[in-house]
Amino acid sequence: MKVPYARQTIDQNDINAVIDVLRSSHLTQGPSVSRFERGLCELTGASHACVVNSASSALQLAYQSLGLTKDDYLWTTPNTFVATANAAIHCGAKVDFVDIEPKSHNICMKALEQKLEQAAILDCLPKIVVPVHFAGRVCDMKKLHSLAKKWSFKVVEDASHALGAFDNNIPVGACQFSDLTVFSFHAIKIITSGEGGAVLTNSPSLAKQVQMLRSHGVTKDPAEFQTEQAGPWHWEQKMLGYNYRMSDIQAALGSSQLKKTHEFVKQRQKLAQRYEELLSDLPLSLPPLDSHSSWHLYVVQLPAELESQARSRLFNVFEEHNIGLQVHYMPIYRHPFYQQFQLGECRNAELYYQHCVSLPIHCDLSEIDQKRIAILLTDFLELELCVTRDKFELASQARGN
Ligand SMILES: *Cc1c(COP(=O)(O)O)cnc(C)c1O
Repeated sequence: MKVPYARQTIDQNDINAVIDVLRSSHLTQGPSVSRFERGLCELTGASHACVVNSASSALQLAYQSLGLTKDDYLWTTPNTFVATANAAIHCGAKVDFVDIEPKSHNICMKALEQKLEQAAILDCLPKIVVPVHFAGRVCDMKKLHSLAKKWSFKVVEDASHALGAFDNNIPVGACQFSDLTVFSFHAIKIITSGEGGAVLTNSPSLAKQVQMLRSHGVTKDPAEFQTEQAGPWHWEQKMLGYNYRMSDIQAALGSSQLKKTHEFVKQRQKLAQRYEELLSDLPLSLPPLDSHSSWHLYVVQLPAELESQARSRLFNVFEEHNIGLQVHYMPIYRHPFYQQFQLGECRNAELYYQHCVSLPIHCDLSEIDQKRIAILLTDFLELELCVTRDKFELASQARGN
C-alpha cells in the first residue's frame, strides 16, 4: 500500500456525522455551520469564527475586511502556498516577500524590520503583513505585534498549518497578536472538512464584514437595514460579496474532526519525536523538536554537498518503494505568474528550497513505515555521499594534491 506524504484520518463518528446531515432537512445554511464555528471559538478562545469554502477564500475575505485594495502592499513569506499571496492579488493589491529565518523557515523578523525601515523612507509601507506558521511552528508573534504597532500595519495569521499549535500556551487562532487568523480544512491539513477554511477574530466589526462578504454582501438583520422594511421577506445587499459559504455536509465533518484536534497533534508530535530518534545520526538537518508545533509537515534538509540532481533521485527511490515525498515550498516569486512583478530573490528562502524534503507525516503513519523511511534515507545518503566523496578525491587527485 502507498504511504502518502500526507492524508486525512477519518473514523466512524466522522462518517456518521455526515450521514446525519444527508438525512436532515438542510444540506447547506443549516445548524452545522454555526456548531462548527462555536467549536472553533471554544478551541482557540477567539470571540468570532466564520467558516467558508476554503482557506484561500478565507484569506481573501480577511484581507478585504481590512480594506486591502488597489495600490496597497501586502507582505508575506515566500515559503508558503501560493494562496497566501494570490488572495492579495485578487484584492487588486501588490505583494512583496520578506526572507525567511533559516532555523524556523518562518518569516524573519530582522529582515522584516530592515525592510520596513527602507519602505518608510520610500513611502511604501505595507497595509498588511501575513505571517505563515510554516509546518505548524509558530512565528515570533510578539515581535511582529510590536512592529505592527510601530509601523501601523495589520496582521493576518495564515495558520493553515497550525490548528492545535500554541504560542506560549495560548492557542493559535486566539488572535492574541493579530487582527485575524485563517485556518484551512483541506483534506491534508490538521483536521478536514473535505474543503474548507475559517476566519477568526476578536473584532465584532471585522467578523460582520467577513460574514457579509461570505454570502453576497447580504444582510437579513433588521438592525442593519438601510431601506424601509417592506415586509417580513425583506433583505438587503449592502456590499459586493461572494458565495464562499461552507455546506452543512462539510461543517458536520469539520465539527466531528475538530474534537480530535489535540489527539491528532499529539500523534504528530510523537511521529516527529520518532523521526528525530531514527534520523539524528544521519547527515541531515532535522527540524528542531517543538512541543508547541502542530507538526503539519516534517521537513528535513539534505546535506549541501550533494549534487543538485540528488533530490530527484531520492524522490525516484521513494516512488519505487511507494512512499510519497514533497517539497514545501518553491519561493512564490519563482512561479511564472509572479515573475511579471520582478520581485527580488530571498537568499535564505532560496538556500532552503534547494535542500528541503518533506517526509510523510500523518496520523496513520506506522512505526514500521517510519523505520522503512529511515533505512531508505540511510542507504540513499551513503550512496550519494560516497559518490560525492569519490568525485572530490578524483578531482583532488587530478589537481595533484
Ligand atoms: C493549504 C494552504 C492554503 C490554502 O488552503 P485551501 O483551504 O486549500 O484554500 C493557504 N495557505 C497555506 C499556508 C496552506 O498550506
